[in-house]
Amino acid sequence: MAEITTIEWTRNDDGTPGRTWNPVTGCTKISAGCDNCYAETIAERFRGTVAFPKGFDVQIRADKVNDPLKWRKPTRVFVNSMSDLFHNEIDQAWIADIFAVMAAAQRHTFQLLTKRHARMRSLLNDPAIVDQIRNRALGKGLPADQWQWPLPNLWLGVSVETQQWADIRIRPLMQTPAAVRFLSCEPLLGPVKLDRRHTHCPTHDFAGGFCTGECPDLITPDWLIDGGESGRKARPAHPDWFRSLRDQCQDYGVAYFHKQNGEWTSQTPDRGPDPKRDIALLNDGTVHRPGQLPPRSEWEDRQLVPMYRVGKKAAGRELDGRTHDAFPAVTA
Ligand code: SF4
Repeated sequence: MAEITTIEWTRNDDGTPGRTWNPVTGCTKISAGCDNCYAETIAERFRGTVAFPKGFDVQIRADKVNDPLKWRKPTRVFVNSMSDLFHNEIDQAWIADIFAVMAAAQRHTFQLLTKRHARMRSLLNDPAIVDQIRNRALGKGLPADQWQWPLPNLWLGVSVETQQWADIRIRPLMQTPAAVRFLSCEPLLGPVKLDRRHTHCPTHDFAGGFCTGECPDLITPDWLIDGGESGRKARPAHPDWFRSLRDQCQDYGVAYFHKQNGEWTSQTPDRGPDPKRDIALLNDGTVHRPGQLPPRSEWEDRQLVPMYRVGKKAAGRELDGRTHDAFPAVTA
């Protein structure tokens, strides 16, 4: 489990790589974004070794929990890159301990991403858990006068791969206390509209339903990352899905980070089209496989975009000729 990571959105402001920290490993699949989970592939490949004795089964790594307290140089840390911290097999006392380390290791900035939005919201709004986190943080050396909740050095995010999961996960995120909230739209599997009615409203009570679009106090997530899928079974992402998120971020003042296009590109590669490998993709996500492609003359009318499998490196990170690497303005 390499601690130094090349994940683009975990790098530090000076461009140096950040770290991963895995006090838990293992998980189970919960939504479409999990289908080709890289963590499962790696953990199962090394099942039975020292690194992953139990493969992708959920496993507490007690020897790792205090690692960030030993790292002297301030860095960005991606928490649980090989698991999901709010998985129901992870005991809440253990989750409290991990939060206590983040509270005590104030020099670092932690990025925590989950697909278990409901458990995240309920635990982090529970005064008894917050108390537990505080007490454990003081026990790990945090001066009492430096305790703050929400943790100022924690960026909390949810995965949003389709509109369905945007509708389900964004609202709980906005109802959870966090210094920075972000969305990870990767792997992006369909068009996503960020309906601002799903965002947290400090003025109106959500118990009665959504806040209306006229509310002057609407706020949005601070940061959005998107990207296409990589790996052997990677699904293609329509470039219009990225364009739409980029434009919505601009309209709503959300920092936008385009991580990668994935294995596929809509730019004709040097190798030229290959009817055995290439596909056509409709904006709604419908994939026309080789052998089922309609004639090229129909593609424009049917808004089909040709997608070429060129590999992650060749597909690159540019969207309409430039990269998008914004980070949220609030930093620890
Ligand atoms: S939640 Fe994350 S770690 Fe867990 S199976 Fe899904 S993609 Fe993998």
